[in-house]
Amino acid sequence: MAIVTGINGTTYTLAPTPIGSGGEGDAFHAHIITTRVVKVYKPGILTPDLENKLKIMIEHPPDKTVLSQVAWPLDMAYDDNAQCIGFIMPELSISSELGDIYKYPSTLPISVHQKVNIAQNICVVISEVHKSGYVFGDFNPRNIGLDVSTGLVSFLDTDSYHVVDPISGNTYRCNVCAPGYAAPELLEKCSDYVAENPSASKNAYSKTPLPTFTQETDNFALAIHIFKLLMNGYTPFGGIIETASVSQSSPGVGDMAVRRDSYCFKPGYKHQSAAIPALDAFPHEIADLFTRAFIAGRQDPGQRPSALEWHLALGKYAESLVTCLANPLHQYDTKNEICPYCEADRRFGAVVSGETLPTSTLKQTAYAPPPPDAAPRQAPAQPRSSTVNTSKKAATTATNASKKARTHSASAIKRNALSAGAEHSVAIAADGSLYAWGANNHGQIGGINHDRSLVPLSIINGGVVAVAAGECHTMAITDDGVLWAWGDSNYGQLGNSKLNHRYSPVKVLSDVIAVSAGYYHSLAIKNDSTLWAWGRNDYGQLGDGTYGHSSNPVKVMEEVKAIAAGYNDSAAVTVEGKLLIWGSNCLSGAPVNRPFKTKTIDDVIAVSCGHHHTMAITSGGGLWAWGINEAGQCGGDSDADYSQPVQIMSNVVKVAAGGAHTLAITTKGNLWAWGLNDYGQLGTGSKKKQYAPTKIMVNAVAISAGKTHSMAKRTDGSLLAWGNNKYGKLGDGSTRKSLDPVMIMDNMMIP
Ligand SMILES: [Zn+2]
Repeated sequence: MAIVTGINGTTYTLAPTPIGSGGEGDAFHAHIITTRVVKVYKPGILTPDLENKLKIMIEHPPDKTVLSQVAWPLDMAYDDNAQCIGFIMPELSISSELGDIYKYPSTLPISVHQKVNIAQNICVVISEVHKSGYVFGDFNPRNIGLDVSTGLVSFLDTDSYHVVDPISGNTYRCNVCAPGYAAPELLEKCSDYVAENPSASKNAYSKTPLPTFTQETDNFALAIHIFKLLMNGYTPFGGIIETASVSQSSPGVGDMAVRRDSYCFKPGYKHQSAAIPALDAFPHEIADLFTRAFIAGRQDPGQRPSALEWHLALGKYAESLVTCLANPLHQYDTKNEICPYCEADRRFGAVVSGETLPTSTLKQTAYAPPPPDAAPRQAPAQPRSSTVNTSKKAATTATNASKKARTHSASAIKRNALSAGAEHSVAIAADGSLYAWGANNHGQIGGINHDRSLVPLSIINGGVVAVAAGECHTMAITDDGVLWAWGDSNYGQLGNSKLNHRYSPVKVLSDVIAVSAGYYHSLAIKNDSTLWAWGRNDYGQLGDGTYGHSSNPVKVMEEVKAIAAGYNDSAAVTVEGKLLIWGSNCLSGAPVNRPFKTKTIDDVIAVSCGHHHTMAITSGGGLWAWGINEAGQCGGDSDADYSQPVQIMSNVVKVAAGGAHTLAITTKGNLWAWGLNDYGQLGTGSKKKQYAPTKIMVNAVAISAGKTHSMAKRTDGSLLAWGNNKYGKLGDGSTRKSLDPVMIMDNMMIP
């Protein structure tokens, strides 16, 4: 059994077989001091220069807190003849190479949070190594080991460090660098030297005059590792995998990509991999550090963030992370509306499967202007057929006392400026007038007995604060709390005790604060928080315990603050935030004629029912979906149905479930759409259905999803519509469907 001796006479007994072998030599466990490993060089490798370098490193180690993560030389190893044959280093805990977790799709179950911690551990080691005056040099992932169970890293090959003797000033060079990790100024200096000295081409790093490797070149490679840890393993340069072949038009691979300055987030530059999350998915501190590392640092390497700066920013980032509900390995900054890693996976999946990505995801502000001969953006000042005059005049001439009472009542009313039905649309203008357009075969838009209107018609002249459009009927609440209804009443859905349709609004209830119109049934909340229902009831959608239709409002329950009427389903949110549902219960197929509480979500603030899916928002802004998902209307990765609520997005403030599509607005005012898109009802510019939420608009404040068309109100008071345009329900003067949002009115009620 071999025994080696250290500088001060310490003896190390080598284990009989090496624990590892490389081109330069073998590593053995030390038998007695088991926390030590002996590296024994092959003959001819250990030059006097290398021996001096090792001695300097032994005499000047970095802070001992990092010695469990660096294979730092701790002692020399001399044989029986006092010949130096290698060195002693600490035993490190390694289960993988760092490069193993750069594979995408990933093969190791390492979460993003863990990757952030690994990045921090790398920073800790580099920071201490730099503090002691050393340069790592060949900062490549094969030189970094990883203990997957702890996240601790192990910096190997310390004998290749770039070391400057603090006494003599002599430099012991690092002579290699893995392609793709060398800083641009180093590459340029080496290539300039090789151009003049072609014989140096094979060993440019050892021949090019100093300085070559510096702490700044380390900081360049450090930023690449952090980028790879956060960006699904992709390099920031061109964003193509390292094994990809290079072509003239490509951003290049390895050193060539760095030389070509192919940083993927350079302004105006399009990165090559769909699997890279967007830079703005990260906190601006992190994004800024990448910019300094790869853009500002290109001109001035001193601009590159130090390991300490990265460590601080990553620590802060780690605290802001939230975990994705679809994939527990995904964590992301709380500001994101949807998981950026799920987004990246979907984009990557789309590219792999040969699908074309919808270009409209990039188009956030450009809307097709209405055609020159299109409808007026605003209906004629004089209604073509006025019906009820709830009377602006009456309101303005009211006494102070009644004004006060009215204001109190009006403030409780849940204002809703727009609603898309099956074949018609309704909206409220800034002056409180109600406009309607589209099909009128059942009187659902109101007014004179014509088939349809391709442009908005003024139906109620002022005083309207909320609207709801069903399959073939329409309801509105005026600011005095009166609920009005018109259109079809074949199941009694108008609630006026009759079954015949009407072209003019009829008064249904007083003291109403919220209304929702389903397929053939209606729901309303009165200002005492009681819930009332009427219309079709063969699936128990009225919730009154029977299956008989009712042409009169029936009281269903108390303590309700929000409602949604769907196709043959209903939902209500209690004042305590409990969500109750009833009706066809289409997923299980067993109708329920009494409200029952869903078990899985609480703290609900809003709900919307589509034909066969339901969406709910919880108080933290979480958006939940369940039901039939055959067209992706629930959102997510596939068309699998959701029998239980599943969270789809975060930071959501409004949601609208349509026939088989869904719209949602986030706190930032971004409008997202997903689901069936056969008529362009998603507004993505195509007819391709989307399982994943797709951003289609900014500055949205209100939405409504009809059976096959959609409407949105924007912060500037404009109303946009898109999708199916049968019977003119978009209101643009035509019956041509629109795959993009088209402006219909510019003077909507605010809010
Ligand atoms: Zn995710």
